[in-house]
Amino acid sequence: MSITNPLAPSARCPLATLLAYCLWPALVISSSSILAFGFVSGHPAGLSETLRKAWFFNLSYLWLLLWLFLLERRRPWREAWQQSDRQLAADLSHTLLDKGSVQFTIILLSALPFFAHRGAGVVGSLPLWVQVVMGLVASEFGLYWAHRLSHEWPVLWRFHAVHHSVRRLWIVNTGRFHFIDSNLSVLASLPFLLLTGISMDAIIWMSAITAYLGLLTHCNVAMRGGWLDYLFNTPNLHRWHHSTNPAEGNSNYGQNLVLWDQLFGTWLRRPDAELGEIGIVERMPLRFREQLWVPFIWRRYQRESAGADPATVV
Ligand SMILES: [Zn+2]
Ligand SMILES: [Zn+2]
Repeated sequence: MSITNPLAPSARCPLATLLAYCLWPALVISSSSILAFGFVSGHPAGLSETLRKAWFFNLSYLWLLLWLFLLERRRPWREAWQQSDRQLAADLSHTLLDKGSVQFTIILLSALPFFAHRGAGVVGSLPLWVQVVMGLVASEFGLYWAHRLSHEWPVLWRFHAVHHSVRRLWIVNTGRFHFIDSNLSVLASLPFLLLTGISMDAIIWMSAITAYLGLLTHCNVAMRGGWLDYLFNTPNLHRWHHSTNPAEGNSNYGQNLVLWDQLFGTWLRRPDAELGEIGIVERMPLRFREQLWVPFIWRRYQRESAGADPATVV
């Protein structure tokens, strides 16, 4: 299997390099512009303000999804990752359960009387962009530590390993998380955010940015981060996070920003180095239902599957 980086210095042509640098910002800016239009346009006229924003959020997400779907086919970062890993059904099932349960947790938390002052007070009255920047930086602290501990604490790794067990990255496995893993991340970041009194509009923008950047981190598209790697969790950084080599994989824990990675010394950037195989050293069952259950029988499963046919595990 070829693992040649199409953006390695030996393989570059000036136009392809320029395009590789422009793709990430162009996709983020165009998606954000669609959402911004939804905030000011007043269309579709028949919908309430909240539904209108949700409509444009979905529209912007679909826009990004379609572009990445096309680009993964025309400009893949690694051609071998275009081949099936027989995880499509499991990836989509995890995504559905994950998104559904996280939304339920968010609605439940937001409805608690404890957080009823949302949008009121000093933070909620600041300009929207200031709230979004502050909210991203503050929530990243909880997200960083929840993610880092899920690598460093064996009991949490059992759940997080579901995400890392993939052998290729593409947009479809962006949301492949054990639902307990994702809900722990929400619990580590959202309560503090709600306590600050941040407005609902700021939370919508933060959710949108998280959705856009999350989809981009897993896309198999030849992109370069450049200076953006110093601020955001770009695909170039996240691929190293999926390395089977712990010295490389235990890095870049940030969800959207890499501020806390830089402060705590876990930021890893190797734009011209060749990434090896990705995945985990442990075994993971192929089927969705077994993947949900395996964290609870982790040691026994690893023992019993050690000699199993590799075709039955990922
Ligand atoms: Zn991880
Ligand atoms: Zn990932």
